Amino acid sequence: MTIDTASITILQQAADKLATGFAHLPQHQTQYDEDRTLQVLLEVAERMWDNYPYPHPQYAGQMLKPPHPVARMAYQLAQWINPNNHALDGGKASSAMEKEAVAKIAHMYGWSEYLGHLTSGGTFANLEALWVANQSHPGKMIVGSKQAHYTHSRICSALQISYLAVEVDDYARMDMVALEEMLKSQDVGTVVVTMGTTGVGSVDPLPQIVQLQKRYGFRIHIDSAYGGYYKLARNLAANASHAYEVMHLADSIVVDPHKHGLQPYGCGCVLFKDPQVGRFYQHDSPYTYFSSDELHLGEISLECSRAGAAAVALWATMELLPLTIGGEFAKDLESCRNAAMDLYTRLQADQRFVTPLEPELDIVMWVPKAPTTSAMSILAQRTFEMAEANELHLATFSFPSALVKQAYPQVVIDSDMTVCMRSCLMKPEHEQWLDRIWAILDQVQQQL
Ligand SMILES: *Cc1c(COP(=O)(O)O)cnc(C)c1O
Repeated sequence: MTIDTASITILQQAADKLATGFAHLPQHQTQYDEDRTLQVLLEVAERMWDNYPYPHPQYAGQMLKPPHPVARMAYQLAQWINPNNHALDGGKASSAMEKEAVAKIAHMYGWSEYLGHLTSGGTFANLEALWVANQSHPGKMIVGSKQAHYTHSRICSALQISYLAVEVDDYARMDMVALEEMLKSQDVGTVVVTMGTTGVGSVDPLPQIVQLQKRYGFRIHIDSAYGGYYKLARNLAANASHAYEVMHLADSIVVDPHKHGLQPYGCGCVLFKDPQVGRFYQHDSPYTYFSSDELHLGEISLECSRAGAAAVALWATMELLPLTIGGEFAKDLESCRNAAMDLYTRLQADQRFVTPLEPELDIVMWVPKAPTTSAMSILAQRTFEMAEANELHLATFSFPSALVKQAYPQVVIDSDMTVCMRSCLMKPEHEQWLDRIWAILDQVQQQL
């Protein structure tokens, strides 16, 4: 694996340009011990060896995607200024860039009127959405599927909102019969619809949930922290593409630019369809807002300080790779999905494996066959370790054994959950690397 250092010359030119904007000030240079700094940095480089090779295509495990070089460089460039997007005083240019970047994301979902901003990540974005949901439907319950991100129940506990988990169907999507029963028996204010579950990438059936909303009247919050950008892909199967078609009907949407949006960590995004929810954020901080009349992002965010650099990096990335259907960014997502379908097809055609689910996005799950679910779990764990020894880096995920049995009726269930293999094929290069990935998997399976 090589580290892209050619970009350092690009960054150098941009840094020189940045400096010309401040050249009129009296000369001032930050002082630091260069020799000692180099020593420390070399130590850092060595410490960083202790990582899986996340940027490499043979890393195909957890949700880790390398930021685009333009994002990395724009972030670094902004660091020489280090703006704070809490208030315009602290980050003038980067606040404007945040508004432009967020407008483009909102536009992707068909919203021209909205309220939204960046957050430190998906968890905080969901926290704001659920906090607003509770402000507008006070005292009512929030529900999400059993495959929804684990932080929803934790967020609700922190906000003292009651939360219930709805059963999933055989496709790991929110079960509509179970949801309707809950709507009849409980005072539900908000349904969290996951579009791209963290475990397996399943997409809850939004069109049916919208139908239920007409009868029962609740807020719809879409958690598409992982899957949100798949709005731009043209190669999804029916359930997912129908759900993506009606995303604009939601009340709020969360998407993580630091998952599939090519950003360094520290970049989530929350959007509200009704700009009037801004009234819930009212506060009277006496000292931060004196010098400007424009809306401060700090007035519509629960967080105070936020990295202006994150907004700059996102803005630069979308400038280079616009969010257009059929554009380079969208095609790269389609490649990820193709890679997942390719791996799934190979696994499914192979008698040695069970594939409990067809991928809806780019996450593939499988497990080597064995007579019992506990024996399958052991084989999955061994696959993980042996693949790692062969420089193929996968992940594991505990999946309900009942759903494994749907795909493999002969298996004897002797554990509630079965450990399965899980692979997030988040890099477009995975499409080209699949032969190699498959060769390692095949070899590992022969040695199990
Ligand atoms: C990753 C993820 C989250 C949490 O987002 P962070 O950015 O890790 O805080 C929430 N929901 C879903 C569906 C996710 O995939």
